[in-house]
Amino acid sequence: MAVTQSSTVSTCKLLIGGKWIDSKASEHTPVTNPSTGEVIAMTPMGNKEDVDRAVQSAQKAFLAWKETPVVERARVMFKFKALLEENYEAIAQCVSREHGKTMPEAKASVFRGIEVVEFACGIPSLMMGECLENIASNVDCETMRHPLGVCVGITPFNFPAMVPLWMYPIAITCGNTFILKPSEKVPLSSLMIAELLMKAGLPEGVFNIVHGGKDCVDALLSHPLVKAVSFVGSTPIARYIYQTGTANGKRVQSAGGAKNHIIIMPDADMPSTVSALQASAFGCAGERCMAGSLAIPVGAAADELIPRLVESAGRMKVGPTDRGSSPDMGPLVTADHLKRVKSLIDRGVSDGASLVLDGRKIEVKEAPNGFYLGPTIFDQVKPGTTLVNEEIFGPVLTCVRVNTIEEAIALGQDCPYGNGAVIFTSSGRTAREFKRHFNAGMIGVNVGVPAPMAWFPFTGWNNSFFGDMHIQGREGILFYTQQKMTMTRWFEPANRKFQDPIWKGKN
Ligand code: NAD
Repeated sequence: MAVTQSSTVSTCKLLIGGKWIDSKASEHTPVTNPSTGEVIAMTPMGNKEDVDRAVQSAQKAFLAWKETPVVERARVMFKFKALLEENYEAIAQCVSREHGKTMPEAKASVFRGIEVVEFACGIPSLMMGECLENIASNVDCETMRHPLGVCVGITPFNFPAMVPLWMYPIAITCGNTFILKPSEKVPLSSLMIAELLMKAGLPEGVFNIVHGGKDCVDALLSHPLVKAVSFVGSTPIARYIYQTGTANGKRVQSAGGAKNHIIIMPDADMPSTVSALQASAFGCAGERCMAGSLAIPVGAAADELIPRLVESAGRMKVGPTDRGSSPDMGPLVTADHLKRVKSLIDRGVSDGASLVLDGRKIEVKEAPNGFYLGPTIFDQVKPGTTLVNEEIFGPVLTCVRVNTIEEAIALGQDCPYGNGAVIFTSSGRTAREFKRHFNAGMIGVNVGVPAPMAWFPFTGWNNSFFGDMHIQGREGILFYTQQKMTMTRWFEPANRKFQDPIWKGKN
């Protein structure tokens, strides 16, 4: 059982050595159903003691797991994928209940996670090294990829199933063992998925879960047996994880926050652009690191785009996601987060931006205690203001009008982040200039959310990523393995020259 059931609310357990056990923590954080505001579980805020137990278990399991033939490790992933598919609906419901995503959003996110498992099923090919014979006289050379040992994943609230799945299927099939520290706000989906991983036949101790916040993370970052840390979360914490982890000698990949620019040229196909921009800005209630949060209409595009967008976003149905209805947008994750996003809207208003759609007025009568905010749009926003520079992480779209594509690209140079950027245009030439010159790591051309699928890395730039090897794709394999080069020479006895039987006597 992944939770201890008391009369009212359950407490999340740790997964250590294949067993569900209680944390030694004395403090707990509530997990809420954001649709209703109801507390649905408690997360123990674990510390060094929990972490040490998990690391010792993972280290012990590593010694046998790294010797398990790679094809057997892959077979566990094939079974895991089948179980994820069988339980797809239930996992999506759990994601929706603890996070507030609509069911279609929750399902899509679980599907993206399953794709990483599909990628990991190819590990025997992906882990292959290189070789070259006779690199010098009688000398052959080869490289092989070895696992690192105990790896750690620390994940954010916004994709309870998908972001953890970016990490551990790859780490584990490479022969590592893994400790996941999910977000204390949304731990339940990870617990549910862990049951499936064990059912798939993963040996005890290969995958472990601990819970907590800073104390727990610090214990992981400083544990001498931890070899690598994957992090996804906000930029200040991502920077801290990178600096602390690398100072402690760990390999670190650390993905941070974002402010993603969407440039709309006057020659864009306006109806499809409006619908893609709306989905990009307000999908998942704007709680996506690839959300289009800054729209930059160029020249005449603004006068057509903004009224259409305000009209269309204003019709979006906002409501609870936990009762079979299908709203266009669910709630924000917690009451605190809702308060923060509302305060940034207030700040935009006091900075003089023009609020053309105000989501603060929304009323959701069937769930009065949920954490709701309607789609919000600011127009005529000045570069350099909070709305332009700060990640809001809610359903708030900031529009900055410019006259030329050069001005739009220049705005990107001033942005401290560099995750995604998108252009909507029908000109290949303009798209090419944008693609080459925009200061961000993931580019979309007529695509609202250019989040790479499992086979490609998540290539954030600037303060959106700290490290060298990105999460997912082949870079994921490089991150979770180290290379060993072997150079071999077999001496040829002077009295017995090898006669090639094929060429013998032919020249
Ligand atoms: P967060 O940074 O608050 O938390 C992320 C993780 O760090 C959690 O597990 C949390 O427990 C831990 N943590 C929090 N404070 C800590 C501290 N002081 N020391 C050590 N660990 C700490 O992020 P969040 O609010 O859960 O998630 C939203 C953020 O994640 C947004 O900024 C979003 O852009 C970002 N994100 C980025 C990507 C990406 O790929 N770049 C993907 C998803 C989300």
